[in-house]
Order: sequence, then C-alpha cells, then structure tokens
Amino acid sequence: MKRMKKQMNEKLIDGKLVSEIVRNEINDEIIRSSIRPSLAVIIVGEDPASKVYVRNKRNACEQVGIKSQIFELPEETSEGALIDLIKTLNECPDINGILVQMPLPRHISAKTIINSINPFKDVDAFSPENVGRIVSGDYSFLPCTPAGIMKLLDHYGISVRGKRCVVVGRSDIVGKPLALLLLHADATITVCHSKTVDLPSVCREADILISAVGKPGFITADMVKYGAVVIDVGINRVDGKLCGDVDFEAVYEKASMITPVPGGVGPMTVTMLLKNTLTAFHLQHHGS
Ligand code: NAP
Repeated sequence: MKRMKKQMNEKLIDGKLVSEIVRNEINDEIIRSSIRPSLAVIIVGEDPASKVYVRNKRNACEQVGIKSQIFELPEETSEGALIDLIKTLNECPDINGILVQMPLPRHISAKTIINSINPFKDVDAFSPENVGRIVSGDYSFLPCTPAGIMKLLDHYGISVRGKRCVVVGRSDIVGKPLALLLLHADATITVCHSKTVDLPSVCREADILISAVGKPGFITADMVKYGAVVIDVGINRVDGKLCGDVDFEAVYEKASMITPVPGGVGPMTVTMLLKNTLTAFHLQHHGS
C-alpha cells in the first residue's frame, strides 16, 4: 500500500509545490529589489465564485509582497462607468497590473472592456495586442493558465519538442493560447473541440494530452495512450467536490505523469498572475 502510494505520488505533477517555488522566487525578487508592484482587480456584481477567485488573488498578492487594490462595483454599473475606472487606472503610475474578473454582467461587453485596458497593464494577456504578440512569439505577458501549464511541464523536465500534443478545448483563455505556446516550444499540435470526429482516437495519439473542456469524467482511460502525460485543466463540482475533466483513478494507471484536481493546474494560474504583475512593474519602470 505504501509503495503504491509512493508510485502514485511519483506520477503526480504537483501544482501546489511548483506554485510555492515560483511564489518564493517572486517574493525574493521583490525583497531583493525593494520594490512594491501593485495589482488592481475589478469585480462587478455579486457572483459568489468570482468573489472567491478575487479573494484568492488578494491573498496570493499579500503572500508575495504585491499590493492589491480591489474595486467592487455594483451589478448595475454601466459599461461607460467601468471604462472610466479602467482609463483612470491606465493612467495611474501606482498601478502596474489591471485585471477585470470575468464573467461580467450581461449588459457589459467583455470584449470592449478588455480592449480598454492598457496592454502594458493587461496582466491577463487577453487584449488584442497581447494576443497578437503571443501568436508571433514576441510576448511580455503570457495568459496565466497556459503559462502555468508550460511552467509545470518545464519543472518536471517534460520536453514537448517534437512530441504529439493534443489539446481538447479551444477557448480564447486556455485552448488556443496553449496550442500556440506548445507550437513555439516545437510540439506537434492538434486542437480538438465539440465538432471533432472520433475524439478518442485523436486523444490516443497524444504523448501529452491536455483537457480544457469543463466536463467531469470526460477523458476516460480508453482515450489515453500508455505512458502519456495528462494535464487536466477542468474545474468541475460533483456533489460539492472539486474534480477535473479526467477520470483520474483509471487514467493515472496508464499515464506516465498526471495533474490532480485540485492541486494541479489551478494553483499555477494565480501564481502566473503574480509573475505577470511583476513583469508589468518592470515594463513600466525599465521598459523590459
Ligand atoms: P470553455 O470556454 O468553457 O470551452 C470549452 C471547450 O470544450 C470548447 O472549446 C468546446 O468546444 C470544448 N468541448 C465541449 N464539449 C466537447 C466535447 N464533447 N468534445 C470535445 N470538445 C468539447 O473553456 P475554458 O474557459 O477553457 O474552460 C474549460 C475548463 O477549464 C472549465 O472547467 C474551466 O473551469 C477550467 N479552467 C480552469 C482554469 C484553471 O486555472 N485550472 C482556468 C481556466 C479554465 P467548442 O468550441 O466546439 O464549443
């Protein structure tokens, strides 16, 4: 039993551990350089999940020495008022990073709001300018979840060069940018989505299989090649318990390495936000 547990742990890609290492590096740099990067987080409305995410971001900022300012706006805030706040923050020299918590209320266009953030302060890397830079490989910020996944792979010495990577999910925040980062790292990429024909056989070709779908138990063991690395981005709740997209127990038997949920990709996302805020500070103070 003890041996089995050890074997299982040897297969685990530990996002908490890697996150802790990166946060310590950020904190060291902040202390060594005597700087105080700052992040503005805007939340509109009362969505309980969004409130938890914002609280987590504030706590993470505190942990590494980043100053966070939370702007809590009522549900009925107009698009114009939100843009005015963003314009003020764009101009404010004391604010290095700006993040607008999604989703926004229906009457506000997320696209318009993202476009109004100064690209140098856009720590989510969602603005058209930053997306374009990711396509060309000339970026300052990387979107947090894909960057966190690349960091996990790097930390565990999992080279993607020449490997067959299958990304299931093509969202603007995970699937698409992740596919680009993997491509820049010389992987051979297939991106799958709801219209993909015979998804299981495409997944079985993967040396590295990444699921960002949002359906519990979606990736079953028969979709995984023996020895594949499996990265589970999904965050789902079943009977109040957090789980990913991957049928974990069955898949870890076949995988060479696998991320758990919770404790895999999730902690890396917030950590990469902290890293982007530090990068934003340097961009605004030294231009690099
Ligand atoms: P999303 O916008 O919810 O889109 C889901 C993607 O899955 C779409 O591209 C969709 O295809 C695809 N899909 C749905 N059903 C499918 C099927 N039967 N076969 C193949 N593909 C299918 O994606 P997201 O925002 O990236 O979120 C995905 C999951 O990751 C969610 O659980 C979310 O909570 C989680 N997430 C986690 C983190 C983290 O930090 N760990 C960060 C972000 C998101 P179509 O495009 O064809 O509709």
